[in-house]
Amino acid sequence: MSLKFYNTLTREKEEFSPINKNEVSMYTCGPTVYNYPHIGNYRAYIFADVLKRVLSYSGYNVKHIMNITDIDDKTIRDSQKEKKSLKEFTEFYTEEFMKDIRSLNILYPTKFTKATDYIKEMVELIKRLLEKGFAYKSSDGSTYFDIKKFKEYGKLSRLVLEEQKENASNRIKTDEYEKENAQDFALWKAYDEKDGDVFWDTELGKGRPGWHIECSAMSMANLGEQLDIHTGGVDNIFPHHENEIAQSEGATGKQFVRFWMHNEWVLVDQKKMAKSLQNFYILKDLTQKGINPISYRFWLLMANYRTRVNFVWEALEGAETALKRLRRLYLELGEQTGKVNEGYQQKFKEYLEDDLDTPRALSVLWDVIKDEKVSPADRKATILDFDKVLGLGFENLKEETIPEEIHEIAMERQEARKNKDFKKSDELRDKINSLGYKIKDTSSGVKISKI
Ligand code: AMP
Ligand code: ZN
Repeated sequence: MSLKFYNTLTREKEEFSPINKNEVSMYTCGPTVYNYPHIGNYRAYIFADVLKRVLSYSGYNVKHIMNITDIDDKTIRDSQKEKKSLKEFTEFYTEEFMKDIRSLNILYPTKFTKATDYIKEMVELIKRLLEKGFAYKSSDGSTYFDIKKFKEYGKLSRLVLEEQKENASNRIKTDEYEKENAQDFALWKAYDEKDGDVFWDTELGKGRPGWHIECSAMSMANLGEQLDIHTGGVDNIFPHHENEIAQSEGATGKQFVRFWMHNEWVLVDQKKMAKSLQNFYILKDLTQKGINPISYRFWLLMANYRTRVNFVWEALEGAETALKRLRRLYLELGEQTGKVNEGYQQKFKEYLEDDLDTPRALSVLWDVIKDEKVSPADRKATILDFDKVLGLGFENLKEETIPEEIHEIAMERQEARKNKDFKKSDELRDKINSLGYKIKDTSSGVKISKI
């Protein structure tokens, strides 16, 4: 079985193989640290995490870079609102992001790269673009990418430039804009009073980088001029990733990324969850309701990353109930860990290697956990193996502590059963249930767990 991924560039599911035999280079557009990311944003990082885990599971070494955007229009705007330095402001939200990804079981990338640590590389890249005629300086001192010079501009988002509205200025300075506003975009933004104390004095003049150049510079500085995989949410396709291609390929003349992979949206009431629409939840909203962040991860895995999912609390609660059940079943398998069941493993791998079919991979997890033809110890080993990809935290599960009182009632019930007093034994079972616990007679003894 070979790995197949849907490539946004070709709009096809393609067989994957890396440029270097065993090593995969992968770049993920990370958070802009101006606020708490919402749970929709976390879909992008959970997707990248599962992708990376699948690649490792298939035997590849993955070099994974994720950036932290600590300089852009939004970080400047909001740090000023809070009267904090850009550094203090962005460090706070970076730390909150780290806490969140740990609680979602997202593995750290090989390296996090902060945009402000790569200004030199950005300036060098812009200079290359100026030399090659892909960029020009405007009268206000900013430097722009000339999209008409890059003949393949639009190839990722399938933008047809002829459709572009004739625009008087024909250039755009803000980082985010819609497809119908495709224009020359800013690589280096000349200093503006509104930027306060945020600027760098460079060969390009006093100013700061545009958002798009940040990712081209950081990815190429760490992974080389050609990458195997680049990920992000679908809203990154235009303009961000289109512009990354123009900048990188303009400078190097080589294909920048072989596989562009994008996750679909998390919706609320069928609309994209977004800060600007004020329809978002952050991870704290979940934990305040007593919902484990891993249940959110589990809920997302129930759908393929390329399908839109509509967030409703009932669905999340349903996922949590299902996950609790899986955990109970897992704990009932006992202490011993045996051998991974190869038949189930093969199926599990086959589904994931088919463009990360997590819903079907989860169905294999349910099958194996309940398959009494496989020994409990082997089932346990298989689940732990699957969890290398799923990241549902089985490894760290501990037997719940059952109160002594419950143990005593259970022992009394055992006595009653021994004496064939089934009426009493049933009454004692009901009593245990009414106290919030349940009891199960298994071949290896009585198991008690929370309801
Ligand atoms: P941002 O911090 O806005 O750059 O977004 C971080 C990541 O979250 C990007 O990869 C976005 O594409 C992704 N994203 C934003 N909103 C959503 C959403 N509602 N559902 C899924 N992914 C999203
Ligand atoms: Zn990016």
